[in-house]
Amino acid sequence: MSEVLLAAEGMTRRFGGLTANHNVNLSLERGVLHALLGPNGAGKSTCINMLSGDLPPSEGTIRFKGEDITGLGSHQRSKIGIGRSYQRTNIFPKFSVLENCRLAAQSRNPRPWRLFADALRLADTVERARAAIAEAGLAGREERIAGTLSHGEQRQLEIAMVLATDAQVLLLDEPLAGMGSDESAQMVTLLNRLKATRAILLVEHDMDAVFAVADRITVMVNGQVLESGTPQQIRNSPDVQQAYLGH
Ligand code: ADP
Ligand code: MG
Repeated sequence: MSEVLLAAEGMTRRFGGLTANHNVNLSLERGVLHALLGPNGAGKSTCINMLSGDLPPSEGTIRFKGEDITGLGSHQRSKIGIGRSYQRTNIFPKFSVLENCRLAAQSRNPRPWRLFADALRLADTVERARAAIAEAGLAGREERIAGTLSHGEQRQLEIAMVLATDAQVLLLDEPLAGMGSDESAQMVTLLNRLKATRAILLVEHDMDAVFAVADRITVMVNGQVLESGTPQQIRNSPDVQQAYLGH
């Protein structure tokens, strides 16, 4: 039985005269990695920004487990289990891996540190941060200063920070950008592991990586969904081949 965690219905976003997303329907299920493809400017980041609550849609509805959350901001969405990573890196370079993940874990708590009860919760955030670091494949590197990590490790850290918030939905904007082939392969393995218990939306340009992890693919062009289906359907779609894959 599929469990839809996050769904967009008729999601539209205009910037002045430009329609960056037009009537987008998308659903993210637990256990499924859904890849979002499309050329630069297609509207992929705008789509993620609306799903994460960073950007309000002009029209449409966003539901989490069936409940309308269109009006919730990104902080509130993070608390209910929707996490994201950014196209550009978002870590604190002078802090350690563990500190970065603790800050992420604490962002779920109200008024961190101020009350005794919050101090007690601190132990819980350390535990959550360590578990997230291990799950993202960075065990043993907790004390490393984030800015000294390799590019691939920094992108793993970003995933760890999302996991530290206990996210069930991971919205990942180009997590493989700038990676070498070894780093990409490792990230693909990680994503395959993470999707077992969560719903993932992956924006990615590397076709080999996408076809290695995606269970479902949506192709956007000019702010609209061109096609959505299984990797096999997308690979064989004449529309997709003509409009995007370039052959
Ligand atoms: P992608 O991530 O697929 O490359 P984006 O979602 O970033 O595409 O952008 C889609 C379109 O919306 C582009 O034409 C972009 O210039 C425009 N756009 C994105 N964000 C804004 C913004 N904050 N203000 C104005 N235009 C924007
Ligand atoms: Mg983008």
